[in-house]
Amino acid sequence: MSQHSKVLIIGSGPAGLTAAIYTARASLQPLVIEGEPSSTSDQPGGQLMLTTEVENFPGFPEGIMGPELMMRCREQAARFGAQFLTEKVTKIDFSARPFQAWVRDQHYTADSVIVSTGAQSLMLGLPEEQRLIGHGLSTCATCDGFFFRNQEIIVVGGGDSALEEAQFLTKFASKVSIIVRRDTLRASKIMQERAHANPKISFVWNSQVTKIVGDASVSGVELRDTVTGATSSMAVTGVFVAIGHRPNTDLFRGVLDMEDSGYLITKPGSTYTNIAGVFACGDVQDHTYRQAITAAGSGCMAAIDCERWLEAQH
Ligand code: NDP
Repeated sequence: MSQHSKVLIIGSGPAGLTAAIYTARASLQPLVIEGEPSSTSDQPGGQLMLTTEVENFPGFPEGIMGPELMMRCREQAARFGAQFLTEKVTKIDFSARPFQAWVRDQHYTADSVIVSTGAQSLMLGLPEEQRLIGHGLSTCATCDGFFFRNQEIIVVGGGDSALEEAQFLTKFASKVSIIVRRDTLRASKIMQERAHANPKISFVWNSQVTKIVGDASVSGVELRDTVTGATSSMAVTGVFVAIGHRPNTDLFRGVLDMEDSGYLITKPGSTYTNIAGVFACGDVQDHTYRQAITAAGSGCMAAIDCERWLEAQH
């Protein structure tokens, strides 16, 4: 038995849920395959499920917890008739219409597809990361920098992301140490110059974070010198991991056009992919802004593009 829908939405962060609200209100009865709760990469609700307070989403002057914001968006979509399946798509076939998707051996067909599978921040792989994320450990300076006013914090990484995050964090923190695993940076020259010129930024070279210390929230880190092997500890209340992102696009490899880095390519100014009837929105196609509000905005674009495309087919 297979289930058919006019719109199949894969992924349920701010982009997918906004696309669901809009397509549901347009009476397209979308089916949202929202992801697997046990997963840290494509969990229902997306990356906001790993954050605590969101203070920059318009309309919530007191702030709102990330998971609550996503729960409300989900309720809003369900109110207009969106259906949800708490599973992970295991296979797709977009070579002919209707498009096909599978959750293990369960088969789904759809007239159109909106891909909103998001991205994940690369993490250090330390066991305590799961417990401390949102409690002093963060992957987004724009989101969480404000909470570290007058505190001493670290940024891990040596690329443009790390230096940009560090620069931004000096607006709030009293001191920002950048932990670099080699003795050189990967970041562009201009970003390096800016970081070196900032009196609040210092570098800790040849160092790898081996442990993040803290029970309820971060209180420090343990470091290992990558050259000598010597260990040391540092008292900090914030750890920002900025070692890169990875879009969740393995499912679409060889099917949808993507950059070498795996981000889906959409036609400029739209959410059209290389396959007519398949749209992409949110972080899966955006490595520049990566904000909940920009993801939501592109989810709205995908819904409108999809609705118009479906209309044009009849
Ligand atoms: P990059 O891949 O450029 O840099 C990742 C950095 O993290 C490297 O210094 C790398 O070290 C380090 N790293 C990787 N894994 C680990 C680990 N396990 N432990 C410690 N350190 C680690 O990623 P970015 O996110 O910085 O940048 C991605 C792309 O986005 C780049 O093309 C960049 O230029 C662009 N970008 C541009 C910006 C701008 O122009 N304003 C802002 C942000 C990003 P190593 O060098 O040893 O591999």
